[in-house]
Amino acid sequence: MSLDALRDEAVGCTKCALSQGRTQVVFGNGHPDADLMFVGEAPGFHEDQQGIPFVGQAGKLLDKLLGGIGLTRADVYVANTLKCRPPGNRDPLPEEKHECEPWLFRQIALIQPKLIATLGNHATKQLTGKETGITRVHGQPQQVSYGEMTVTIFPIYHPAAALYTPAMLKVLEEDFAKIPALLQQEVEPVPSLAELEAEPEPEPVAVQLGLF
Ligand code: URA
Repeated sequence: MSLDALRDEAVGCTKCALSQGRTQVVFGNGHPDADLMFVGEAPGFHEDQQGIPFVGQAGKLLDKLLGGIGLTRADVYVANTLKCRPPGNRDPLPEEKHECEPWLFRQIALIQPKLIATLGNHATKQLTGKETGITRVHGQPQQVSYGEMTVTIFPIYHPAAALYTPAMLKVLEEDFAKIPALLQQEVEPVPSLAELEAEPEPEPVAVQLGLF
């Protein structure tokens, strides 16, 4: 299946109540084979109007940060954890995230990015599968496996949070500056559970030291 075919399916989604209030589904946009993917939270007012993620103020900052590392939106793929705008830009609800998640994972499976920069808490928790918040994990790449696929997740602050906080903007710029080197790194596949179970148990340390 192609990304366009997946989009055609997603635009008619009615799996959660957000479908009733949306202008349109904001599926995602950018390079369909991008090495670098960004995942934000949910569409806001402008995204809902235009059908494109990150076109408002936070998007302008994202574009600027990308420019700082020599990239444009055409080089990367940008999507959100939710494809429809929550009313009043409230936080995504757990059931909305649950219903919307398959669209995101199917996008990731088709794009096969090397690196996914998760913007803020919602995307970071969803794609790492861990509850550790962005303040603790930002700027630290971690490898995760989704089925057969291994990808590096790189949590960074959400550009909206950095818009009016110069200290946070500085951290975001520093984290962004790490992206080019991360894109060069080879990803070591995370061993599957079956592979880990097939490995022989290490001998107890005392035996290895010849103490018994
Ligand atoms: N914030 C997001 O998380 N996503 C958008 O698309 C726009 C703003």
